[in-house]
Amino acid sequence: MGQIQLNQVSKSFGPVEVIPPLDLTIEDGEFVVFVGPSGCGKSTLLRLIAGLEDVSGGHVLIDGRDATEIVPAKRGLAMVFQSYALYPHMSVRKNIAFPLRMAGLDKAEQDKRVTQAAEVLNLTDYLERRPGQLSGGQRQRVAIGRAIVREPAAFLFDEPLSNLDAALRVGMRLEISELHKRLKTTMIYVTHDQVEAMTMADKIVVLQAGVIEQVGSPLELYQRPRNTFVAGFIGSPK
Ligand code: ADP
Ligand code: MG
Repeated sequence: MGQIQLNQVSKSFGPVEVIPPLDLTIEDGEFVVFVGPSGCGKSTLLRLIAGLEDVSGGHVLIDGRDATEIVPAKRGLAMVFQSYALYPHMSVRKNIAFPLRMAGLDKAEQDKRVTQAAEVLNLTDYLERRPGQLSGGQRQRVAIGRAIVREPAAFLFDEPLSNLDAALRVGMRLEISELHKRLKTTMIYVTHDQVEAMTMADKIVVLQAGVIEQVGSPLELYQRPRNTFVAGFIGSPK
């Protein structure tokens, strides 16, 4: 896929405007992190891109096409939820294959894609287990596997590591970064964790109360924070 472009995108819930009109461009293959304190609108922004929420104003353009013309399932975007969104009664294999079964892919193609995803994620030996028989990190990998098999044009992650313990989080951060290097697929990653943002992103989007405070590489934000909010949040010296 090419670009994802937000043109004057805004969102209100009833009378409350949680995202005033904003512009943002995400290039093909970028690893973009939306970072900001809880309640600043990160998830809402991701859901607008995914088409899980309708914009109140403006346009989301995917490859130059208005996203409202493309049903969410056809946007080629895969949302990665926290691992507790797995089906506990299904094997790992069935959990990963689930979106493919829903899409009606034939069994041979399902098996091929599940085998490939399992190899990438080191889950080959765990395919017949249930999620309850896996570690937290393995469960998170299954959740990522369920996105990979769809061969999406972009992955959308919403705080995927927030229910893992600190040590596991560090490992999973590296794994997701490796996955990005390997697949070279656009990833949009939402977190309130500055360290995750600084270590994983090509481009960081700092949000406060629905407003983009700054967009830049980790180094740019560190060396040239635009204001005291960014400086304070990123931990740089301004
Ligand atoms: P974040 O993910 O950064 O923590 P959210 O995008 O979840 O923030 O929320 C941004 C703001 O929008 C918050 O004030 C939240 O209460 C509000 N909000 C989010 N979803 C809804 C909804 N469905 N109805 C009403 N308000 C909502
Ligand atoms: Mg959120």
